[in-house]
Amino acid sequence: MRPKLIVGNWKMNGTLKETRKLLFQLSVEWTPKCHDIEVAVCPPFTMLLIAKHALDETSIKLGAQNCYCEEKGAFTGEIAPAMLAELGCTYVILGHSERRTIFGETDNLVSKKLRSALDAKLTPIICIGESESERTGNETEAVLLRQISESLATINANDAAKVVIAYEPIWAIGTGKTATPDEAQSAHAFIRADLQKKYGSIASDIRILYGGSVKPDNARALLAEPDIDGGLIGGASLDASAFIAIVEAAT
Ligand code: PEP
Repeated sequence: MRPKLIVGNWKMNGTLKETRKLLFQLSVEWTPKCHDIEVAVCPPFTMLLIAKHALDETSIKLGAQNCYCEEKGAFTGEIAPAMLAELGCTYVILGHSERRTIFGETDNLVSKKLRSALDAKLTPIICIGESESERTGNETEAVLLRQISESLATINANDAAKVVIAYEPIWAIGTGKTATPDEAQSAHAFIRADLQKKYGSIASDIRILYGGSVKPDNARALLAEPDIDGGLIGGASLDASAFIAIVEAAT
């Protein structure tokens, strides 16, 4: 049994005033229906503390969008996993395609961050997914196999059970193009089969989220697929009503 998980990735958005408003709307619109499902939001680092206080009365958990792989020291501009845990974060997104393509993060770095996040008792959400040219060149499966094997290189089956995978086809992120439920399901089943080969029966407990232009009107069909265990939501998570509608679609 894999409890569904919906995660909002706010990316680099929101002034203090806008963030307070979004947090207030989320807490006001939060309904008992939403309690059946695990939900988290990942604000920018600077907003984590106010988010923690604002969401205290809801069951919405907190996550960060990234962290570094070292515990402390001379790493200017970086944030350690333990710092996030101390602020009340449960989740941390790692290896998002924007980190990989804009900031040059490699699978190897993602695997080190994964190890450190687990050591700090955070639940890592590891993003994988192919680009448009990789999909049209029939390389999707090869890309997924490489990203799974290299990004998860530092963990064993015991740890794998604590990890969340997010399948995010890059061509669907922020573009308004969504994988069809069939396309997404087939990628998720492929990912789960590979996890099964690597980690055995634990693979059936690993949650695999879909990300890529999930909106209230396409969420229900995607989330009804057997291997889609939730969503990683970008743009739509900045609108409290849209985000809550997606959470309700998952119930
Ligand atoms: C994301 O950035 O993880 C994402 C899925 O974005 P969007 O929902 O805007 O496509």
